Amino acid sequence: MVGRAHGLPRNRGLAPRKTAARSGPGQGRPWAHPTDGLFVADDPSLAPGVARVLRRLPPLAGAPIRIGRAPGLRGRYGASHAGTLLRDRRILFDCAPAEFPRIFVHEVFHFVWLRAGNAARRSFGQLLASEIEGGVSGELGWSAELRKGKLTAADRRNRTRPWREYCCESFCDTAAWLYSGVERHDEFTLAKRCRKTRGQWFDRMLGGRQIPI
Ligand SMILES: [Zn+2]
Repeated sequence: MVGRAHGLPRNRGLAPRKTAARSGPGQGRPWAHPTDGLFVADDPSLAPGVARVLRRLPPLAGAPIRIGRAPGLRGRYGASHAGTLLRDRRILFDCAPAEFPRIFVHEVFHFVWLRAGNAARRSFGQLLASEIEGGVSGELGWSAELRKGKLTAADRRNRTRPWREYCCESFCDTAAWLYSGVERHDEFTLAKRCRKTRGQWFDRMLGGRQIPI
């Protein structure tokens, strides 16, 4: 690894059960995609998978992001599926092909979060806080779930760094659930009604416009 990378931890032993189209927010839309050249694959074998996932995503715009492979990736929480270098605009993957769509969307949405603005980040945080205050457990990915499990009420109240990191990971995991095309996964543990509310939030905040990354 070069420089400081965000890492997406692996939850060992869990795997996607099925990849299929899902009806619901963010799925199956006829988006226009001015994304040619947005992702530059250092490893050409990644390109077809990227093209397939991009068809599911809202339109993105920004400077090119390089993607490649890096076997043996490790992050703060051990072995990682991927690492993102936001400033270098690079994403490195070390994941099974079946996991690639979910991991790719998660990592791309780190760039979205960075540029989403304080109002959107605060709004998503309020949605998460209301879930927790309502006694909702579960998440839409291990990265968010492991952070959620360590939070205190004071973290939430004071919007501490662990709280903000949780909000970021939950945002990326929610995007991965929404846009990757993976219908079911052992890491999708959030209650169905909360999934729907999150999907509506994404539609309201990000729907129908080009997203800067
Ligand atoms: Zn992440």
